[in-house]
Amino acid sequence: MESIPIWFFLMSTGLFGLLFGSLANVIIWRVPRGESIVSPGSHCPGCGTPIRWYDNIPVASWVILGARCRECGGRISARYPIVEATSGLLWLAAAARWGMSARTLFGIGLFYLLLILTLIDLDHMRLPNAIVAALGVVGVVGVLFAQLTGVPAVPLFIGRGLLSAPMPYAASGIVIGGGISAAIAGAYALIRKSAGLGMGDIKLLAVLGLFFGPYVLMVLMVASILGAVVGVAVLRRHKGAGQARVPFGPFLASGALLVALWGPVVLDWYLRLAGVR
Ligand SMILES: [Zn+2]
Repeated sequence: MESIPIWFFLMSTGLFGLLFGSLANVIIWRVPRGESIVSPGSHCPGCGTPIRWYDNIPVASWVILGARCRECGGRISARYPIVEATSGLLWLAAAARWGMSARTLFGIGLFYLLLILTLIDLDHMRLPNAIVAALGVVGVVGVLFAQLTGVPAVPLFIGRGLLSAPMPYAASGIVIGGGISAAIAGAYALIRKSAGLGMGDIKLLAVLGLFFGPYVLMVLMVASILGAVVGVAVLRRHKGAGQARVPFGPFLASGALLVALWGPVVLDWYLRLAGVR
């Protein structure tokens, strides 16, 4: 492993991310519609023609074909190459953050599934159980692996004292993530008589607890701040257009990404600022 140059590792991980970005597009379209991921193969949404492998190269094919289907000339949304490029960047970010380690592998699983959840939530205003459960499986496997081998994997951070082992650290995250979000949802329902957080958001926060331990609270805070800022902007644009709903999943995903990459640094900076450390 030591003999592989880091630039090669980062580049190839990013390329794999691009390739898996194509699969992400398929999952985002099919899973909420209850369609199979494997068959039939990719086809043009306009004319149904199967897409040849050389027309299915991430980002490049879209650019070369001028955003149009080779057969029918129908427009192909810019969203497809954007999702592919984002997937590549997320894989690259995980590789840069955790290097050649098991943590990178599980970090990639986290970022990739959160990208898929973000787009499905934007499209359908829900977080499918199947994808949240898949993220949960990745997290549980990572925690068991770390607990049994002693190799850092999941959670992405580790604490001191009682929380110095993966299992208790992850368990505290599930309790904090699931418990606090359920409490907020309950309080909100009592006061406003409407749901603030959906069931999907609560489940996702519990699963994120696996990956983040107590840092899941920071994920929720960052997501709430982002949600408040964007929510106000959206409500302004849709003034008088009734109730514009904003899905919370994309903010949870953004919060998770930011905390995974910079959480402890920011917390340390804050504690210093507050004179605690
Ligand atoms: Zn077509």
